[in-house]
Amino acid sequence: TKNDQPRLRIAIQKSGRLSTESQNLLKAMGLKINMREQRLIAHCENMPVDLLRVRDDDIPGLIMDGVADLGFIGENELEEKELERQRLGEPAEYKLLKRMTFGGCRLSIAATEEFDYQGPHSLEGLRIATSYPELLKRYLDEQGVNFKSVMLNGSVEVAPRAGIADAICDLVSTGATLEANGLKEVQDIFHSKAVLIQAKAALSAEKQALVDRLMVRAQGVMQAKESKYIMLHAPKSQLDAVIALLPGAENPTVLPLASTEDTVAVHLVSTEKLFWETMEELKQLGASSILVLPIEKMLG
Ligand code: ATP
Ligand code: MG
Repeated sequence: TKNDQPRLRIAIQKSGRLSTESQNLLKAMGLKINMREQRLIAHCENMPVDLLRVRDDDIPGLIMDGVADLGFIGENELEEKELERQRLGEPAEYKLLKRMTFGGCRLSIAATEEFDYQGPHSLEGLRIATSYPELLKRYLDEQGVNFKSVMLNGSVEVAPRAGIADAICDLVSTGATLEANGLKEVQDIFHSKAVLIQAKAALSAEKQALVDRLMVRAQGVMQAKESKYIMLHAPKSQLDAVIALLPGAENPTVLPLASTEDTVAVHLVSTEKLFWETMEELKQLGASSILVLPIEKMLG
């Protein structure tokens, strides 16, 4: 599995729940991508990067076989493929670069509304329909529960009604789909987010340097998203109390105001969300002109 392509290849889901946010992150990292519909490969105009736009199911394998250098993939899909390949004795290695904040969901076992669930042992001997037989087996083996898995790649939630399974194991985010099919979630077995992974084999020095540079940018984009720039006026006498209320404000800038001696301006980057409750407390301390601004990029 040698990869001597000069351009860095990043695999992303072509269309689906992960594609918009993966593309948005790459754009925010400064990659100019020419996304023509229906193209497998999209070339980046300003960096030696190509995007491979594929079904998400294919992404773990592309990385594990060294065909793509980087990939965005849900942990559910990644670990399922890893377990399957380990069982088959196929290459299953990768490097985890970063866990994303998007793509959150859980893999759960669901049964019909009238099912009396008392714990994993209630599933003993059942037929369970799923697209994730490896993750399901890992969980139920740990619990010492025997079951029969019914592999389905789609429409898993109709299996109980169709009489081909007694329960299902599927991805859930709100539970609305389950409810619409007369099912209830009885046991979550795996919590997933999207991750950015890299192929195990070493890259050329130039390509690795590019990956490192891109990762610093990714970090900057993600950090900026979670941070806010806060500006306010505060009475000098309450300065410590005001700063203590603001999460992550290690190094605030304190500036004099032209019009008054008793009040100063405070500028700072807060690493957390600022809730209305905190704003109200700031006001009670005498703070005024409180502005909370989004940050686009951060470095260093
Ligand atoms: P593809 O055509 O690429 O195979 P897909 O139908 O398999 O797409 P999507 O439904 O787009 O996949 O989901 C992709 C990933 O998004 C999932 O594997 C999971 O990691 C994540 N995800 C986040 N929320 C949910 C959800 N509510 N239901 C399913 N997947 C979710
Ligand atoms: Mg898929």
